[in-house]
Amino acid sequence: MAPLEFPSSIIIVGAGIFGLSTALAISRRYPSTKTTIIDRLTPPVEDGSSVDTTRCIRADYADPIYARLAHEAQQKIEADPDLKPHYFKQGMTFVCDGKPSRFNDIWNAQVELARARHAQEKIVQMDTSQEVFERIHGAGAELPTEEKLARGKRWNKAYCNLDDAFIDAKECVRIYYERCLAQPSVTFQCGVAVERLQVVDGVAKGVVLEDGRIIEAEKVLVAAGAWSPKLVYLEGRMYSSAIEVAWIKVTREEEKRWKNMSITTNLSTGLNVFPPYNGEVKVLRRSAGYCNTVEMQHPEEKEKMIEVSLPRTSITHPGTAIPKEAEKLMREDLKEIMPGLAERAFDRTKLSPTADFLIAKHPRIGGLHAVTAGSAHAWKFLPIIGDLVVDSMEGRLEPELAEKWAWNLEGRDGGNAPRMDGKPIELRDIVDSH
Ligand SMILES: Cc1cc2nc3c(=O)[nH]c(=O)nc-3n(C[C@H](O)[C@H](O)[C@H](O)COP(=O)(O)OP(=O)(O)OC[C@H]3O[C@@H](n4cnc5c(N)ncnc54)[C@H](O)[C@@H]3O)c2cc1C
Repeated sequence: MAPLEFPSSIIIVGAGIFGLSTALAISRRYPSTKTTIIDRLTPPVEDGSSVDTTRCIRADYADPIYARLAHEAQQKIEADPDLKPHYFKQGMTFVCDGKPSRFNDIWNAQVELARARHAQEKIVQMDTSQEVFERIHGAGAELPTEEKLARGKRWNKAYCNLDDAFIDAKECVRIYYERCLAQPSVTFQCGVAVERLQVVDGVAKGVVLEDGRIIEAEKVLVAAGAWSPKLVYLEGRMYSSAIEVAWIKVTREEEKRWKNMSITTNLSTGLNVFPPYNGEVKVLRRSAGYCNTVEMQHPEEKEKMIEVSLPRTSITHPGTAIPKEAEKLMREDLKEIMPGLAERAFDRTKLSPTADFLIAKHPRIGGLHAVTAGSAHAWKFLPIIGDLVVDSMEGRLEPELAEKWAWNLEGRDGGNAPRMDGKPIELRDIVDSH
């Protein structure tokens, strides 16, 4: 095959896992290509989707393509001496209420696949709510009764995959940032956001920063996560919304008691409880999400205004707590599975931005690639996503992946990290504006 013409200079907008992993992959494959990573903040970027206390690393996908990629990425994480100390392989328990629904169907499909793909002793089945409860709280632990809950039970059957793990996401992003810094061909430009792309005669030539500076390159990659619709008109291909996350401080005794628990997630209710880490338990809920619709100039047609949802975060709106309804639903679920924490004050909360998977060249603007954002499940692909992006830039991405992440698709990849039913709720209708 003839050698490919690869750009000699590239701008990557965004230093989340997509941007950092891609910069490293470029520096390995094309050491003479100059890559500039631009971010509004210095990594690890606190309000980026990639930065959090913990992320799940698992290959429990009903979708065989994601299952294969996740398995490959997990093996790479385990073989990486820098990432390994931040990786905790203590399993993930997938629970459902057992009532007919799409969540129950996903659970059934997942458990079958988990049994087929993992050693028998790695899959622990729990057939009753008592067994699910005891897996966290120990043999003989007293499960709250339906009278006490004043409703039916929801944590009714489960399987735990002991091959699953959690990872300190912030520390690993820091490691990837440092790896990029160590590459002579990679430089960072952090602290000022990109205002818009510099497009001349239908070809991206660089970016214009908010302070007016122009940075030029032969190719521009937008890896701006849930912020991407600000820079690129995505035609509804990708939708940014946020998921609610809360941290609860635990005592030393509780930390010791739950230290070895598995991440425990209920597909039917969306609640996800992480094992204690650094003295706190993280709880998140895969709700239908919260959106923040704003009016802005169309990125391609200057005279036109459009409405898009953009992140409203702890940095842009400090002090904004998660919506009251989100807190209520989390506590209602905690009452059953972690009763000791259900009434405890949240130490802090955040709305973490997310959007859909997209790795494709722009259909109209030359020299432009959009590589983002993972539908709330892409973190685990950190060690491999950059190479897949470079494959896509070279036009060599496996056809089934190119098709999955193509521009002209409806973005939501349902089933891989299922969200609750319903439409995202508009934040401006329920929280005070700052
Ligand atoms: C609550 C939640 C839980 C999740 N749990 C998991 C999990 O357990 N396992 C898993 O594998 N995945 C999980 N994910 C998904 C995963 O975190 C994301 O898919 C992934 O981090 C997306 O990375 P990114 O690089 O696209 O985005 P980001 O990390 O958000 O990076 C985008 C970057 O672009 C920068 N940027 C944006 N606009 C501009 C601009 N105009 N100029 C300059 N810079 C800009 C931002 O500052 C940011 O640093 C979860 C996501 C969420 C929200």
